[in-house]
Amino acid sequence: MAQFAHILAGFTLGFLCRRKLAQLLAETPLTASILTIDPAVLRMQGIEVLSLDFDGVLAGHGAPVPLPEAIAWMKHCQEVFGGSRMFILSNKPTEVRVRWFAEHFPAIRLISGVRKKPYPDGIKKTGELAGVPLSSIMMVDDRLLTGCLAALVAGARPCYIRHPYVSFDFRPGAELFFWLLRFAERVYVRVVSLF
Ligand SMILES: [Mg+2]
Repeated sequence: MAQFAHILAGFTLGFLCRRKLAQLLAETPLTASILTIDPAVLRMQGIEVLSLDFDGVLAGHGAPVPLPEAIAWMKHCQEVFGGSRMFILSNKPTEVRVRWFAEHFPAIRLISGVRKKPYPDGIKKTGELAGVPLSSIMMVDDRLLTGCLAALVAGARPCYIRHPYVSFDFRPGAELFFWLLRFAERVYVRVVSLF
C-alpha cells in the first residue's frame, strides 16, 4: 500500500489546498504549455529556480527523453536562469532520463530519493540544494494533485501545464489513463472547492 500513499495524500492535501487549486485552475488558460512560458518574464516576477516535471511537461508519458521543442525551451531557460538553478522533479526519474540529462544538460540536477509529489519533500530539497527560499521556486507540472499541489504545500509557486504533451501513438493505454486522471482531478478540485 505504501506506493499509493502519495495518491491518497493528493486527495487529503488537495482538500486542504482546494481554494488555491481552484484558483490556479481558473486562472490557467487551456493552451498553457511550456512554450507559453517565457523564462525572462518569470525572472522579472521573482522566480529564481525552475523545478520541472517530466511526463506531460517535457514529453509524452513514459518517453525516455524530452521532445526537441522542449529541449530548445530548456536551453532558453538555461540561458536565463543558469543550469544550476534548474531541477527535474519527476515521480519517475528513470535511469535513461538521468543519463540523458547528464550528457545533454549536466548542470541540471534530478531530484531523487524523496517522497513522491504531492509531498513537498522534493521541492524542499530543491530549495536546500539551490540555496533559495521556497517562495522563489516555480514547479512546472501537468498534474494538479501531484506537482502543483506539492508546490502549494511547500510554499513554492505552481505553474499548471493545462495542455500537456501526449503521445497516443506511442503509449495509448497509459496516455488514456493519465488523460482520465487529469480530467478527474480537475473535477475533484472544482467539486471540493464548493465546500
Ligand atoms: Mg507529469
